[in-house]
Amino acid sequence: MRDVTPPAHVDVLIVGAGISGIGCGCHLRREAPEKTFAILESRDGIGGTWDLFRYPGIRSDSDLQTFGYQFKPWTRERVIAPADEILDYLRETVAEYNLSEEMHFGYQVLGANFDSDRARWTVQVRHRDGEELELTCSVLFAATGYYNYEQGYLPPFPGVEEFAGTLVHPQHWPEDLDYAGKRVVVIGSGATAVTLVPAMAKTAAHVTMLQRSPTYVISLPSEDPIIAGLKRVMSEQRAFRIARALNIKRQAIFYTLCQRQPALMRTIIRAQTKAQLPKHYPVDVHFKPRYNPWDERLCVVPDGDLFRALRHGDASIVTDQIDTFTPDGIRLRSGSLLPADIVVAATGLNVFLFGGVSLSVDGTPVDPADTVAYRAMLLSNIPNFAFSIGYTNASWTLKVDLVCEHLCRLLHHLDATGTDTFTPVPDRPLQLRPLLDFQAGYVQRGVAQFPKQGSEEPWTIAMSYAADRRRLIDTPVTDPALRFGRAATPAEVVS
Ligand SMILES: Cc1cc2nc3c(=O)[nH]c(=O)nc-3n(C[C@H](O)[C@H](O)[C@H](O)COP(=O)(O)OP(=O)(O)OC[C@H]3O[C@@H](n4cnc5c(N)ncnc54)[C@H](O)[C@@H]3O)c2cc1C
Repeated sequence: MRDVTPPAHVDVLIVGAGISGIGCGCHLRREAPEKTFAILESRDGIGGTWDLFRYPGIRSDSDLQTFGYQFKPWTRERVIAPADEILDYLRETVAEYNLSEEMHFGYQVLGANFDSDRARWTVQVRHRDGEELELTCSVLFAATGYYNYEQGYLPPFPGVEEFAGTLVHPQHWPEDLDYAGKRVVVIGSGATAVTLVPAMAKTAAHVTMLQRSPTYVISLPSEDPIIAGLKRVMSEQRAFRIARALNIKRQAIFYTLCQRQPALMRTIIRAQTKAQLPKHYPVDVHFKPRYNPWDERLCVVPDGDLFRALRHGDASIVTDQIDTFTPDGIRLRSGSLLPADIVVAATGLNVFLFGGVSLSVDGTPVDPADTVAYRAMLLSNIPNFAFSIGYTNASWTLKVDLVCEHLCRLLHHLDATGTDTFTPVPDRPLQLRPLLDFQAGYVQRGVAQFPKQGSEEPWTIAMSYAADRRRLIDTPVTDPALRFGRAATPAEVVS
């Protein structure tokens, strides 16, 4: 990948070359082709999450019709897709939109100060070889994801230093880890654990998923029968558009039903789970969560692969708690011993906001926790800054497309009105709430560093594509709470 010094000034500086950063580049090309932009990425390549994680079986749990961009149909057969297919799709996107020239790898953004007088961000950047440089931009877009790339979350395990086997974290998967014929314990019950268990069970002696408490797990076909049917009678593009619209609706209806009829949805999910397990399997011990569906994330398994591994006896689930690690494995609170050669701690992520970029306005540092999100993409009192954080209950990319399209509309509005800045400023007292009302462990551990949300528009976070479409696409960009301004000293004069 290209490692070329970024330009000294661009209209839009995008931090991160994952799904969000690439998406933003494409939207600028399509909807604001006159704007200059650069994408700065601290790693050596594109893809973010889909390049970082290398554990066996790594795949999406969203369908790619909605996890892919709206402007680039996902045409591969598998719609619950492995990381390498997602990466290929992103590479194709970069090529189609000719983004290589704008991408700069090995550049970590450290901080950015907005100069209100000039209406410009000055951005501190460090190259991996230690060289530091300063760039300027008119608009800063944080496409940095939501977690720390350096270190996954590893809770303190009692006695772990006694363990004679190998302990691995999925975020730091050793390339040469040989688990064939080995006894593996996967600690966790989230999306990563349910992916790892069937993938490792193919060659391991046995894989045990050790969970403190159960999660909802639903099975979806990895190939979408609807799109396969549609493709036979219409063009691929049209079939994709219909399948995507149907999946957006399906996700929304499913989520709404979970929120409004939790008892019914528990019963339906339990019946689906039970039907895929052996007759006397203790479904209520291992698959009956304490929370209602979608109060925490719900895991998807393609073609029931986890249930198949459980049926075949290649994998099992233990619902218990760790008392202590021993040299040979893990002793549980119940007193039983789980022998292990390899323990995988699928214990999650450390939330990290805006990739650690420290923001200031006119030299005054800004703590994002003191800000309020505006239309879920700008921050109160921070001019010309936007960010992309996707949905917890639907595909991340659905939100990326909406945010980037809105950003392009904002840029057009600045041009049309001869203004240089947009700044959300609360125009009445706001009742503040946490940004994410979601009980997943990583959210709860990190929520204190997040911006807040208000209790009314445009300060709320809608975990709903339809609601975001209305306010980001179908509504004018102007709003009483969004101030547009002119630079007192036009940048051209001073630079
Ligand atoms: C294992 C796993 C599976 C997932 N599966 C799904 C799924 O199926 N569906 C779904 O909707 N979501 C899923 N997610 C959430 C997922 O992270 C998003 O869907 C999506 O990939 C995020 O894209 P992004 O570009 O916003 O962030 P990321 O993929 O995290 O990319 C951010 C990029 O920014 C770069 N960066 C960060 N800080 C800086 C800095 N200061 N300077 C320069 N560069 C920086 C990083 O190096 C990285 O390349 C999953 C997450 C994980 C961890």
